[in-house]
Amino acid sequence: MKKSRIYAIGIGCLISLAVPGTAALADTQLPAMEAPGEESSASSEETSAPAVQETAAPAGAESAGPGEGAETSGSSTIIRDSQSRTDYSQIGPGIGLDQDAGSQNQETAGTEFTAMTVSDPVVKPVEKYSYEQMKTDIEALKARYGTAHMTVNTIGTSADGREIYDIVIGNVNAGKHVLIQGAMHAREYMNPLLMMKQIEDALAFYDTGSYNGRKLSDLLSQVAVHFVPMSNPDGVALSQFGLDAIQSAELRERIQNCYASDTAAGRTSLDFDTYLTRWKANARGVDLNYNFDALWNNASSTWLLPSSSGYKGLGPVSEPESQALVNLINNGCTWAAVLNYHSMGNVIYWDIEGNQVKAKSQHLAQLMSAATGGYQMLYSGGGGGFKDWLQLKDNPVPSITVETGKVDCPMPLSEFESVWAQNRAGWALAADFALLY
Ligand SMILES: [Zn+2]
Repeated sequence: MKKSRIYAIGIGCLISLAVPGTAALADTQLPAMEAPGEESSASSEETSAPAVQETAAPAGAESAGPGEGAETSGSSTIIRDSQSRTDYSQIGPGIGLDQDAGSQNQETAGTEFTAMTVSDPVVKPVEKYSYEQMKTDIEALKARYGTAHMTVNTIGTSADGREIYDIVIGNVNAGKHVLIQGAMHAREYMNPLLMMKQIEDALAFYDTGSYNGRKLSDLLSQVAVHFVPMSNPDGVALSQFGLDAIQSAELRERIQNCYASDTAAGRTSLDFDTYLTRWKANARGVDLNYNFDALWNNASSTWLLPSSSGYKGLGPVSEPESQALVNLINNGCTWAAVLNYHSMGNVIYWDIEGNQVKAKSQHLAQLMSAATGGYQMLYSGGGGGFKDWLQLKDNPVPSITVETGKVDCPMPLSEFESVWAQNRAGWALAADFALLY
């Protein structure tokens, strides 16, 4: 089938995985839709669950929560990391970097790409950067920059039939791979824009730019950088354009049922259209960042029915979108780091109870905190998050969740300038980090 074909072409390390087991990519192994009857097991906890905070969230980090911000979670803990405010002056440069702080290769490495500007860029900031715009821009990036350094794969199909793209920049046969993913939560759709502009940076300055004193061409020959800009494309479309953006009548009915049950339980008092703009889940009403196999039974999901947020699903990795990311990580590549973009709070979650890659995750978070100009590092409790799974699984992967922006989602376009300035270099930092270990 198509996805398998694309995979086989796409990434070198997958070829070595051409053994039984890679068939996990097949649709037939995706979990079935939930049986309506199973949802009736929702218990009396419904009425005691905290209300969705749909009104203005408190400023700053507190509005985010476990495992990325489960902004609505009531049962998990956030512990400010007392070690997060250490002196980062000895840590390598990021945004606003010190040109003298790089390696000895500085003289030959050329200009730091963060000091360069793409003229007439393909990717242009717009308030509702859509799935369709992303697809158009992917093709336009290919046309402008060629495909020598860019490989476009799909890693799965959403519940409503949208492709989940994995855009690989650099050497697909590199010994190390890093993943940057965003928009797992629907309304956080400024991050796909951020990531598409990061991709254009990488392509535009591949041969002329450097990062941290190393040529990008050198960095990207050693590290393949995977971008999954829109992990939850149905949710993004729903949040941006409303119910008509969903093709499936069954899913539209399910979304309406989410609104009915959330309204009946007092979890929302918004009108339907406004409620949809605040949507976080996938089109099946599952909050994907509670859906991973990481302390899932204890996951601090706040709700037991499909909803705009907070419902963890009937089992770990029950959703095609979460399955797609798990398949990508299980593809046989050596993953050195995963960077998860969420919004909002200008904070970084880097830890979880039982973290198998604690020191490396902390180091990555420290570097990112410095590069962003001081995003605060926080511990995240709870479970079920993609980051949590990466840190807890066999062959764990250092991972952090970066919460961009400082206003409620969906964020207005006016927020993008600061989000971009703080996070432009994030992908290069992750790739550079991969070479440290
Ligand atoms: Zn989020």
